[in-house]
Amino acid sequence: MKLLFLGPPGVGKGTQAALVAKRYRIPAISTGEILREAMKAGTPVGLRAKTYVDQGLLVPDEVMIEIVDDRIRQGDCAKGFILDGFPRTVPQARALEEICQLDRIVYMTMADEAIVKRLSGRRVCDNCGATHHVDRLKGRTRCEGCGGNLILRKDDAPETVLNRLSVYHEQTAPLVEYYQGTGRLTAMDGAMPLDEGFAYIEGFLEHAESAGA
Ligand code: ADP
Ligand code: ZN
Repeated sequence: MKLLFLGPPGVGKGTQAALVAKRYRIPAISTGEILREAMKAGTPVGLRAKTYVDQGLLVPDEVMIEIVDDRIRQGDCAKGFILDGFPRTVPQARALEEICQLDRIVYMTMADEAIVKRLSGRRVCDNCGATHHVDRLKGRTRCEGCGGNLILRKDDAPETVLNRLSVYHEQTAPLVEYYQGTGRLTAMDGAMPLDEGFAYIEGFLEHAESAGA
């Protein structure tokens, strides 16, 4: 099962992707996470990506296509995978099509104002990558899961969030129409409670499987 989670930054793609990955025992591939790791490790890709990521701009297509092409050829992707954060442009979608065909696309929606609120209050564990929201942390600064430090991602700073949103509307939103035509896309409200959202996605995927996708 090859899946794509599509939608604006902060809508909850990564969180749902992790749940679906566990349920179907396929890897969730977050290109944002891959880039952040490369940046932390100071690899050539990481150094090249940093100026773009820190400003909320997109890393050039050819860099991203190579990253994803390498990743989905690895053994753990043989039975399928979930893409979160790629493709993010029409050229990326075309390049992916050359490599494989996606079975289902889950499009998560949310209004811009709600996204700004979510991202500016988001804190990320610098050790395990788990995300938390200040509203629920009540002053705690450590990750519940692993005890790591909770930090504000540099690109979650308010001005950068606005950049990411305009980049999303200009370059990524056209993919909704691109995939809608295939009949393999469903749209869902990103504001749904986590378990309801997960149940909805599960229903969509089970239906997809019985249809032979
Ligand atoms: P979010 O979805 O919350 O914006 P991500 O973690 O997916 O955050 O991505 C963070 C940053 O990584 C993006 O703002 C962008 O700079 C870069 N990035 C991730 N995926 C891609 C991609 N497919 N194409 C170009 N840039 C990307
Ligand atoms: Zn943690």
